[in-house]
Amino acid sequence: MDVKLSRRLENLPPSATIAMSTRARALKAQGADVISLALGEPDFPSPEVALKGAIQAVQEGQTGYPPIGGMPSFKDAIIQKFAQDNHLHFAPENILVGNGGKQLIYNAFAATLDPGGEVVIPRPYWVSYPLVAQMFGAVTKFPECRESDNFRLTASALAASLTPRTKWVILNFPNNPTGAVLEEEDLLAIAEVLRRHPHVAILSDEIYEHLTFGNRQHVSLLNVAPDLASRVLIVNGMSKAYAMTGWRVGFGAGPAGLIRAMTTIQSHATSGVCTLAQAGAVAALQSDPSRRVEMCAVYERRRDHVLSALQGIEGLSCARPDGAFYLFPGVQRLIGLTTPGGRWLEDDVAVAEALLEEAHLATVPGSAFGQAGYLRLSIATSDADLTEAIARIKDFVQNLRG
Ligand code: GLU
Repeated sequence: MDVKLSRRLENLPPSATIAMSTRARALKAQGADVISLALGEPDFPSPEVALKGAIQAVQEGQTGYPPIGGMPSFKDAIIQKFAQDNHLHFAPENILVGNGGKQLIYNAFAATLDPGGEVVIPRPYWVSYPLVAQMFGAVTKFPECRESDNFRLTASALAASLTPRTKWVILNFPNNPTGAVLEEEDLLAIAEVLRRHPHVAILSDEIYEHLTFGNRQHVSLLNVAPDLASRVLIVNGMSKAYAMTGWRVGFGAGPAGLIRAMTTIQSHATSGVCTLAQAGAVAALQSDPSRRVEMCAVYERRRDHVLSALQGIEGLSCARPDGAFYLFPGVQRLIGLTTPGGRWLEDDVAVAEALLEEAHLATVPGSAFGQAGYLRLSIATSDADLTEAIARIKDFVQNLRG
């Protein structure tokens, strides 16, 4: 008999983004010519300065336990980053370094959620938010971000999902999976709603802050509503803007009491983040931002290319993402059709499945993000692969039968 799992695990699927990219890798390992648009992982190498920073830390013998909450040099660099990039001012006791943005979210929920507490997660959402909240017994509520609003969260949708039991509201803009960004006027209206609910904490996941297109600049909730500072936790990290996914370095900034509790959780789980990774992250954060800006320009060019190609395929629709590195096309008009391989496309999961099996193209079904009828495509993928991916999608769609 296998070890019996906890009730908490009963309805907990693995992360869909990771599951899909793992399947793509497995198919590739068997020799199939697979293109994967499943994982949101920059296709750029980590910056040279980060490598050098980590190597220097090795040479200096920085190999002992780090402080749980983050090395002082990294906390200082993070404080400077917030001042420079976001015009927000924090002290070391407001900062926690974790193993990727994910650990900050996990720590925050572990530190604050009791069974029955409500977590409000605008839909479509990144796959892990509701699953982690549910692990701690939370009830999840999903205000809709509509395609007709370019997937922006409206103050009225948010207001309708708040109750006296609401513990957290999650804001994730630029958004994964839609690429939606919030403008200052959106945030002003959202802040007004949050002021009417002083018991609600806000987790603002700003991991895609540096990936905004056109003339847009990322705006943080605290820029428009500094009076909310005592209940806002900002989550960010090195993975996306600095192409440092494998280093597993995230950071959070928030009220000292919450940060202290999250640090306690981390002290019992993973301790401090790898010293070498933190040293590399310090160097990256302090480096010239031009590389970051260049990568963003590449994503923007790819966004334009893939968006116009998708919009030209009969049967698909696609809103224009203004940030992050995903496209989120609607595939509702493909539902009910049959593939040349004889698969009946019952829903978006079947579409993603058929694309993988028959066109060797990995995507993530919208259902994993709470939005059936869509697919998420990552454009953090080489231009050559994106061009081939578009050709495969076109061919796939054109060969469906009614
Ligand atoms: N955040 C990325 C994604 O959505 C990485 C995988 C994950 O952690 O979900 O693809």
